[in-house]
Amino acid sequence: MIPGSFEYHRPDSVSAAVKLLAEHGDEARVMAGGHSLVPLMKMRMTDIDHLIDLQAIGDLKGISVDGGKIRIGALTTQHELINDKGLAKAAPIIHEASLQIADPQVRYMGTIGGNVANGDPGNDMPGLMQCLDATYEVEGPSGKREIKARDFYEAAYFTALGEDEILTAVEFDAPKGGYAYEKMKRKIGDYATAAAAVLIEMDGGKCTSASIAMTNLSDTPIYSEAAGQALVGSSLGDDAVSAAVKAMDEAINPAEDNRGPVDFKRHVAGVMLRRAIARAAERA
Ligand SMILES: Cc1cc2nc3c(=O)[nH]c(=O)nc-3n(C[C@H](O)[C@H](O)[C@H](O)COP(=O)(O)OP(=O)(O)OC[C@H]3O[C@@H](n4cnc5c(N)ncnc54)[C@H](O)[C@@H]3O)c2cc1C
Repeated sequence: MIPGSFEYHRPDSVSAAVKLLAEHGDEARVMAGGHSLVPLMKMRMTDIDHLIDLQAIGDLKGISVDGGKIRIGALTTQHELINDKGLAKAAPIIHEASLQIADPQVRYMGTIGGNVANGDPGNDMPGLMQCLDATYEVEGPSGKREIKARDFYEAAYFTALGEDEILTAVEFDAPKGGYAYEKMKRKIGDYATAAAAVLIEMDGGKCTSASIAMTNLSDTPIYSEAAGQALVGSSLGDDAVSAAVKAMDEAINPAEDNRGPVDFKRHVAGVMLRRAIARAAERA
């Protein structure tokens, strides 16, 4: 299919892009890697009069690992996330999760900013960012502001990002302890049937902190504080893990679709979470 006609803009600064967004209102949309947006345009499922390509904005690129603080520019591709050695060392869960996104062709183009800003519940990065307690930096006509990943997602494709704002970077503290990203998908290149992001810290055989978030099991990613709390203070025995799975199950709200009925998705979610807890514990 061929998209409808649109005017193409290629600003070279965030402020110029924001100005274009403010000028054209809901007739305009920014494009990063284009691997979620362009298919929608080709299928005529979205109608855009002004396409604002962010690719020439150098300030949106790059990864910095400074002590325990990590900052990733919105235009950083999934391929770059996988291949950055400093990032893989400081936050290996990003490397592990990025390798499970789509296929190499998509990862060469898809960006972290597009992945988290899109609000697609099937995307892997939003749940991971909630697990990491990341902060999104956004910029609009009235300047910069920060939004926690855990507060960002409102419904499928609805987020706290204003229509005239651009997501410029994600920031988080380097995670400590063990980690795992477990994803069940029907085939290579598919979105998750269910996925679990887990971070665990242990001390003297007891869990001192745990962060758990789930992907594609509701119309937003699900960070379950109760699931993490069920593990804290335990030695991650069967009772504690079952309590975490139960708390997660109460937080999700999967819908039946071509990836399976609701009961199946709840079952797979439990399997993914158990596997992720076990692997994170081994690494803690
Ligand atoms: C075949 C296929 C399989 C896929 N499988 C997976 C998968 O398994 N897991 C997964 O996570 N993803 C998957 N994806 C999605 C892929 O990772 C996308 O590239 C990504 O989600 C969107 O990133 P993008 O840079 O391409 O964004 P774009 O397509 O350019 O933009 C997506 C949306 O976000 C907005 N946007 C983009 N950047 C910004 C910004 N900086 N600030 C504000 N708004 C912005 C755009 O306006 C648009 O609405 C798949 C895609 C394809 C085509």
